[in-house]
Amino acid sequence: MRVYNFSAGPSMLPIEVLQEAQKDLLDYAGSGMSVCEMSHRSKYYDAINNECIALFRELMNIPENYSVIFVQGGGSTQFEAVPLNLLTGSGKADYIVTGNFAKKAYKEALKYGDIAVAGSSEDKKFTYIPKDLKIRDDIDYLYICQNNTIFGTRYAKLPETKANLVADISSNILSEKMDISKYGVLFAGAQKNIAPAGLTIVIVRNNLVTDGMKICPTMLKWKTQVDNNSLYNTPPCFPIYMAMLVLRHLKKLGGVEEMQKINEYKSSLLYDFIDNSSFYSNGVAKEDRSFMNVPFVTPNADLDAKFVKEAGENGLVSLKGHRLVGGMRASIYNAMPVDGVKKLIEFMKKFEIENK
Ligand SMILES: *Cc1c(COP(=O)(O)O)cnc(C)c1O
Repeated sequence: MRVYNFSAGPSMLPIEVLQEAQKDLLDYAGSGMSVCEMSHRSKYYDAINNECIALFRELMNIPENYSVIFVQGGGSTQFEAVPLNLLTGSGKADYIVTGNFAKKAYKEALKYGDIAVAGSSEDKKFTYIPKDLKIRDDIDYLYICQNNTIFGTRYAKLPETKANLVADISSNILSEKMDISKYGVLFAGAQKNIAPAGLTIVIVRNNLVTDGMKICPTMLKWKTQVDNNSLYNTPPCFPIYMAMLVLRHLKKLGGVEEMQKINEYKSSLLYDFIDNSSFYSNGVAKEDRSFMNVPFVTPNADLDAKFVKEAGENGLVSLKGHRLVGGMRASIYNAMPVDGVKKLIEFMKKFEIENK
């Protein structure tokens, strides 16, 4: 039986895509082998690589003067790649600290330059997006984490800045429309909204594709993959193939615009239910709420644990909140059907009646 999987990542993939991959597993496109087994220099893989890049460009409306590359090491490796590639002018960068991942990125950058905090929401346990910012004039970049997976916040509006904006979009890529021209660099691990873990996508404006800092390792330098169409070394071929299938599927469904509508609908069902309940609550500032990750609690920690356990027994799995937050978290990425959210709400109603 397939369950509704509310995991924050790796997370659900569309069933149609899994079935397609299953069909291809022994013999991809008449090659007589699976994508897991084939050379990344083969004509079959070359076609996958190029189609996947082209689909990212099309679906995210990425302008000509940006490069799209595939790298490894997850979102976390970009925490160090960002300063190593970009601290080439004043050597300064500002970070907005909105949660665990932003903080990790900030700490990593401290090793490489003059790094400051432009704003933080740590005073209120990261339950909002800071709007009062102190951004220095001569920075090489301003860093944000656009959707905060653990705390359930999201930038409804990007911060005003003339600096190059760098955004971690690991948990909201392809979930909402983005004006790419507003950013210098965007990056995302694939395992939240796109594909199996192992693939990280970096989108970088071409004037920021440089040799980076002198100490920048070859494999962390974006230019290395830009110059080689992401084939400098062996790429994560299978996750890239899966990403291609997911993007084809997304295109068929109507693209990012349609996904955004569905995601707004799904999240509003859940937030409306929570807001109208005296049993469940969500502590995030309303205007900063994520469409993708919805944390919530019952009146106490014992009931939270009971909720997670019983939900699991009912086919609603991985609802336990992050250890930094506790409670529950429903991650409702693109592949979570509306029906999954409705089933969750039905279960929440039943649980409330039984435990009030
Ligand atoms: C999951 C996540 C990361 C970490 O990604 P890894 O691929 O595990 O390194 C970074 N940033 C955000 C916003 C995330 O959701």
